[in-house]
Amino acid sequence: METLAEKMRGYLADKGIKLTVLYPTESFTYLATKKEFLSREGFPKKGLQWCGGRCRWGTAIKCQSIERYLRSLGEPEITQYVGIAADESIRADRAISNRRSHYPKEYPLIEWGMTEADCLAYCRERGWSWSEWSETAQDFVDLYDILDRVSCWCCRNKNLKELYNVYRFLPDYWQKLENLQQKLTMPYRRDGKTVFDLKERFARQAEQTDLFDVFMGSGNKG
Ligand code: SF4
Repeated sequence: METLAEKMRGYLADKGIKLTVLYPTESFTYLATKKEFLSREGFPKKGLQWCGGRCRWGTAIKCQSIERYLRSLGEPEITQYVGIAADESIRADRAISNRRSHYPKEYPLIEWGMTEADCLAYCRERGWSWSEWSETAQDFVDLYDILDRVSCWCCRNKNLKELYNVYRFLPDYWQKLENLQQKLTMPYRRDGKTVFDLKERFARQAEQTDLFDVFMGSGNKG
């Protein structure tokens, strides 16, 4: 099955646009579990732990990689087009106030008044979807049926509904969460709950929840 990235590469090539994918120099797991750094108080620490909430180190690394790449192009004038939707414009405000980039940013979706739901509907109407094979459902699951937002699999910003759906429908990703939790000292949730605590809760919840109900509850099936 063609990946989304491959499909996008072909789509852009037809329009004469080159797709460049930037890769980090250090793996996410290495950064989360082994990277040595100094805390704000100046103490040596190991492992950046979970990414999300107020500690979005993955976002910082992503922005730095983009900045490095743009500088390497040696072009004096470059505009960055950022896909932040109209109903999440606060993220754009934050990006502007951070002023981390030397290159100006434009937010076309905000200009056009396209909300997250508008964008998803637009993509779906044109045959774009984000799906993963689900062992539980024995079918491909559209990630936007079970998640509010498709982000990194280990993002600490996932809410309980999303985490439960990962547990139910994407057991491979759930296993990855358990493996990562095993290596980290920080619990996944800010209330102190680890991935293993959530697993116990979800196992009880799953006994009471019918698979069909979960799909119906997502509002995108049936
Ligand atoms: S999606 Fe979440 S885990 Fe990924 S970089 Fe952003 S904050 Fe970090």
